[in-house]
Formats: sequence, structure tokens, C-alpha cells
Amino acid sequence: MCCATGVCTLCPADAKFTIQNEMAHLYQDSRVSLMLESEALAVETEGGQATGVRYKQNGKELVAKADLVVLGANAIFNPYLLQRSNLTHPLLGKRLHEQVGQHVRVDLAGVHNFQGSTMITGHGYMLYDGPHRSKHAACIIENFNIPLYNLRLERGKWRQVAYFKFIFEDLPSNDNYVAISEKSPHLPKVVYPHHSADAQRGIDNLPTVLSKILAPLPVEDITYQYVTDTEGHIQGTTIMGNAPETSIVDKNLVHHQVRNLMVLGSSVFPTCSPANPTLTLSALSLLAADRLFSSQS
Ligand SMILES: Cc1cc2nc3c(=O)[nH]c(=O)nc-3n(C[C@H](O)[C@H](O)[C@H](O)COP(=O)(O)OP(=O)(O)OC[C@H]3O[C@@H](n4cnc5c(N)ncnc54)[C@H](O)[C@@H]3O)c2cc1C
Repeated sequence: MCCATGVCTLCPADAKFTIQNEMAHLYQDSRVSLMLESEALAVETEGGQATGVRYKQNGKELVAKADLVVLGANAIFNPYLLQRSNLTHPLLGKRLHEQVGQHVRVDLAGVHNFQGSTMITGHGYMLYDGPHRSKHAACIIENFNIPLYNLRLERGKWRQVAYFKFIFEDLPSNDNYVAISEKSPHLPKVVYPHHSADAQRGIDNLPTVLSKILAPLPVEDITYQYVTDTEGHIQGTTIMGNAPETSIVDKNLVHHQVRNLMVLGSSVFPTCSPANPTLTLSALSLLAADRLFSSQS
């Protein structure tokens, strides 16, 4: 899969699962109305059932009546909207997490790099799954096929450098959460003081394992650059599970208490994998729609 950082606007391989490249035909159905410039404010409920969505359009508050409400507003706005709807639960908004990425630059002796076809040409699974996960976080390795920050500033060695990102899973923690902002209740408050000790141990362990992983390459020097502020993979704030006491939605992404309310997206991920989330969250959403449809037909 390529990256969503705006490198291309049209993916020829349909690697990006977006409404535009896969499902645009749905807007042609006369039963579908798309409400632009509208902000959902809360799910309206009555007697344990969702009855509609309160929303704001052109400064006016309106209600769209509904038999079924499906939230797909991501892992910050899904829990925020549920909290605004007075649907309380001790875990709602909690366990906010994402992967943690460590950038590494490797100077190569005599090998010219950057000859692949896409921005990220290779993924390494050497630290993905295995017994090491009992000691520290697993990780996926991304190999960048662009001189991410710099070519090598030495005559004749411009391309003798490789950039990698080591992306670690994180352990969800209740310390990281989304709540309604006390100062501005029309906005969510995101509290994320730290990633887990398990992810940090994975990062700290890199120098021990990296020489083995890079052994096939003529490595001249390794620089541990920095840990990214965010991977943009927001997860875990309305988790999925079988027990209503310890999760917000069930395995079909239906809210445990309000049975005609569904919550889609990576907010339902109970744990973190080192992998990018979007194909998984899309597959889960399609599966939930299939199951809903078959339960009603
Ligand atoms: C820079 C960047 C790069 C990424 N690269 C990758 C990648 O390479 N691979 C990968 O798998 N994932 C990647 N991701 C993650 C990916 O973007 C997300 O996993 C995906 O977009 C989540 O889809 P979603 O539909 O659940 O949420 P979103 O895409 O966030 O969509 C939620 C929508 O709800 C709308 N919304 C929110 N609140 C309200 C409200 N109150 N009223 C009305 N509308 C509302 C938002 O405006 C938004 O349009 C990347 C993310 C970033 C930021």
C-alpha cells in the first residue's frame, strides 16, 4: 500500500479504499442524500433506541430522523459524539492509541539506492510476530524509496543512503483518552501523555537487532533519527468486544446498549497491530454491513 500524505490524488491501483474510488456510484441512488456543510452534534435517543441525529447546518440546529444511526467519524469524534449523546460507559473514549514510528538513516558503502517504483517500496516483517513480543513491542519496517530528508551530502555518494521507519505496536492505556473539552464543549479534548513502556522497549531494543537485520547490506553508518509525533492512525476509543461491561460495541459493531446504533472505524480496535489500519477498518465496516443486512433479510 502507498502512503496517504498527498503524494498522488488518484491511485491507479485502487490501493486507497475511499468512497471516491470504490463507492461513488452510491451517490447516484435516489435514496441517498449527502448533507454537506453539516456538523453532527449528537445521536438522539429515546427509550434505549436511536431516533435520529442532531446536526448543525448554516448556524441552525436540525434533527434528521432515523431508524438506524451509523457513526463513522473516526476515533476522536466517534467517542466525542457518543459522550455528547449522554451514552456513558467507563471505557468510552479511553485506550486511545496508535503505532509509534522510529526513523532510521543508514549510510551504504557503494550501493546506490532509490530505484523502486513507489514511495514505500518494501515492508520488512523480521520484527513482526514471534516470541520477542513477550519482551517488547512488535514492529513493521517501512523502506522509503525517496530521499526522505536528504541525499547523502558527499560527492559520488548522493544515493548511498537508505531511510527506514520502524513502526511499533502500542499497548492501549486508560491514561490516553478523548473527552468533551471543559473549556469548549463543542470540541473534543484529546489527552495523550505517553506511549507504552512496551513500545518504548521495542524502540530501545532496535540497536541490538538492527545489525542482524541489515547484515545483507554494506552498512557504513546507522543514525537513529527521531520518533514521529504521530502516525495518524488513531485507534481504540469505542472498543469492540463480547461483554457489554468491557466494550462499547459488539463484534458486529452494534452499540451494546443502543441496538440500532453502529460505530465504524478504527475506534473499535481493542488492541494495536504494527500495521496500517485502514484496510482492516474498511473490511470490518463492510462485514458489519453484510451481517446487518443478512440479519434483516
Ligand atoms: C497523514 C496520514 C497518512 C495516513 N496514511 C495511511 C496509510 O498509508 N495507510 C493506512 O492504512 N492508513 C493511513 N492513514 C490513516 C487513515 O487516514 C485512517 O485510518 C482513515 O482515514 C480512517 O477512516 P474513517 O473513515 O474511519 O475516518 P476519517 O477518514 O477520519 O473520516 C471521518 C469523517 O467524519 C467527519 N466528521 C467527524 N466529526 C464529524 C461531525 N461531528 N459531523 C460531521 N462529520 C464529522 C470528518 O470530517 C471525516 O470526513 C493516514 C492518516 C494520516 C493522517
